[in-house]
Amino acid sequence: MVAPVIMAFGNEAQKAHYLPRILSSEDWWCQGYSEPGAGSDLASLKTRAIADGEDYIVNGQKTWTTYAQYADLMFTLVRTSTEGKPQVGISFLLIDMNSPGISVNPIRTFDGGAEVNEVFLTDVRVPKANLIGEENKGWTCAKFLLGHERTGIAAVGRSKKQLAKLKEIAGAELSGGRPLTEDRRFSERIAGIEIDLLALESVVLETLAEEARGNPPGPGSSLLKIKGTEIQQGLTELLFEAIGPYAAPYVPEAFEPGWNEAPIGPDYAMPLAPTYFNWRKASIYGGSNEIQKNIIAKMVLGL
Ligand SMILES: Cc1cc2nc3c(=O)[nH]c(=O)nc-3n(C[C@H](O)[C@H](O)[C@H](O)COP(=O)(O)OP(=O)(O)OC[C@H]3O[C@@H](n4cnc5c(N)ncnc54)[C@H](O)[C@@H]3O)c2cc1C
Repeated sequence: MVAPVIMAFGNEAQKAHYLPRILSSEDWWCQGYSEPGAGSDLASLKTRAIADGEDYIVNGQKTWTTYAQYADLMFTLVRTSTEGKPQVGISFLLIDMNSPGISVNPIRTFDGGAEVNEVFLTDVRVPKANLIGEENKGWTCAKFLLGHERTGIAAVGRSKKQLAKLKEIAGAELSGGRPLTEDRRFSERIAGIEIDLLALESVVLETLAEEARGNPPGPGSSLLKIKGTEIQQGLTELLFEAIGPYAAPYVPEAFEPGWNEAPIGPDYAMPLAPTYFNWRKASIYGGSNEIQKNIIAKMVLGL
């Protein structure tokens, strides 16, 4: 996600250093945008970066930071000024996760995983050379990145895989002695989600073609985010219904190495409950779907 921002707003030294390392996966990144009290209202973020010679001293807290426990670097929104509108005093800063003063605290989620974290920053020294673009102009970078992030969240490829799995399972599960794929109501629902997915795919391809012509995704990416995540959640719901009661047992330990107990019900039922719970996140992250509707109303429809 950070690569397009470095390409668009970074200086030559930053591009030469970071881009090859992103391409080779040498550096893993996490996203330090959200804070307690600054999620939907992101511009109210409070993490401060105060200039001190060639460095900034950063103090504050980020939250919901996906995979911060594995990341080498965090692209971060920090407040460098409290003058004017809240959006004006924000800067886009790259922070080495091994810097002294950073601590990461995992948040256990409903599905049994720990993919999100709290990140605490106490007197963290960050070179000014890590600032992307101009000081106090980070909001422009932040919005540019979110356009790309929301296009990516549409995740058509992943949903195609899930759809294939759903069809396979619906073919194996019986309803009234016949495969579920022959149940008219159920197969209509599968067809409905497949039609939505095909329509989404064509709009995503159009967005990517525009990007290749030099037009980055704008507020229209909010539509891709809403539709993509509705499809993702819809697929987990249909999978749950297809499998029936065997989808309900919740055995997160089954994902741990060494787990060798017999599954409850068919093999394919086992990961369903954690997957279903995990995908509730999709309508929240990248900016909640309610907020995407607000963006569309204001920026696309001009209401
Ligand atoms: C699994 C997961 C991973 C995440 N990963 C990251 C990450 O790596 N980095 C990062 O920075 N953040 C991350 N986030 C945070 C995510 O971006 C925020 O959770 C999201 O923006 C919502 O903010 P909030 O949680 O503070 O909820 P709030 O802003 O408190 O919102 C609570 C509810 O109120 C609704 N609401 C709020 N304001 C309005 C309004 N004006 N109109 C209508 N409805 C409104 C919201 O839609 C939501 O339903 C992640 C979140 C999740 C769940």
